[in-house]
Amino acid sequence: MKTIDVNGRTYRIPQEPTVVFTIDGGDPDYLDDALDRGIMPRLAAMLADGGQYCRGASEMPSLTNPNNLSIVTGAPPALHGIPGNYCRLEDGALELLNDPKFLRAPSIHAVLEQHGVPTLMVTAKEKLRRLLGHGGVPSVSVETAGETGLPEYGIPDLPQLLGTELPEIYDWNASHYAMRIGLAVYRARRDLRLLYVSLTDRVQHAVAPGDELSDRFLVEFDTILGEYLDEGFTVGITADHGMNAKHTGDGTPAVHYLADILEQAGVEVHDVVLPITDPYVRHHGALGSFAWIYLPDTEHARAREVLAGLSGIEEIWNRADAATVYEHPQDRIGDLAVTASAHVALGSRKRDHDLSALHGALRSHGGRHEQIVPLITSRPVFGPLAARYHAGVLRSRDLHDLVLNHLTDLDHETALAAAAAAS
Ligand code: ZN
Ligand code: ZN
Repeated sequence: MKTIDVNGRTYRIPQEPTVVFTIDGGDPDYLDDALDRGIMPRLAAMLADGGQYCRGASEMPSLTNPNNLSIVTGAPPALHGIPGNYCRLEDGALELLNDPKFLRAPSIHAVLEQHGVPTLMVTAKEKLRRLLGHGGVPSVSVETAGETGLPEYGIPDLPQLLGTELPEIYDWNASHYAMRIGLAVYRARRDLRLLYVSLTDRVQHAVAPGDELSDRFLVEFDTILGEYLDEGFTVGITADHGMNAKHTGDGTPAVHYLADILEQAGVEVHDVVLPITDPYVRHHGALGSFAWIYLPDTEHARAREVLAGLSGIEEIWNRADAATVYEHPQDRIGDLAVTASAHVALGSRKRDHDLSALHGALRSHGGRHEQIVPLITSRPVFGPLAARYHAGVLRSRDLHDLVLNHLTDLDHETALAAAAAAS
């Protein structure tokens, strides 16, 4: 059996087409509700036919960039170097972490490419494409597919290949277009072995499970999932993070503006850095449930006292402890790391957050309560990871390990018998 080693883990080189979908903001509540109401028949049939669905954990902070990178590298942020969408570097520069120069570990896909195994990364958001495509991985985003095409696979015009117009990034179906690109490229050249398709959380930021828009999103997801299954794909599904309402009963955002609060209390603050910050301000206004605070050593004790007095503050760690607890690179995180509860968001200064463009009342992520994600496979899980998987304690960064190394073979009779014997 041919294998590759990536970041200290060994993966079987897939012989059959394999795809991992990351539903951006795909809180398990969306899927559970949709399965309960029977609006995802292909997913339901996949699960009835030996597929598995357990919950697991994403990385902290529960944000897009750290988690997409952990999923494709199989490694924590401490190793891949991306602890946020945004951070402050050691020289004080504030940076969106979208550039491959910030990466410290290769993806599974990049190592497969080095071994001559064809792979593909498709994203809705361009911000992720450059990171995911690093190391010679053919990659395309819905945002820029119209200009770039996919030259690595000799496809100049993707809308022409798909036969449909490109959506805008804030359209409800930008995610489905990403899924359709993956399918169309596979059908154009049957040799692709590992695809990664990362969606956008535009819909999840806007509406809760059961909303008409959410249903439309999930029904279309299910339809395209069915097309992948019909093509013989082995499938893994996870999310980069969950999603929660962060507003009061009347729709007012529930936010602690930490720089304002600390300064009003007389605490000297150098910076409050919000790692959710990204180009998609209409999603969240840079408000999530995680913040880094930069301040003089002499101010730590008083800052902790002020923060502990705020309702909904759950964790306060100093840099060294945060690096251990969250598995973060010490040089890219704050002097203090702070998390908030499910329905509370953290801001910097009120005047710096523009909430006028939000799609609706604030729904966001970043804290512990959005760390729980679905881990779904199209076939039974067996072997040494099975017990941890079924106990709900695996991480999304383990999903490629599960899908490439720990699924029973394609013969369903054999597969089901093995699963029964293992339990
Ligand atoms: Zn996300
Ligand atoms: Zn988001």
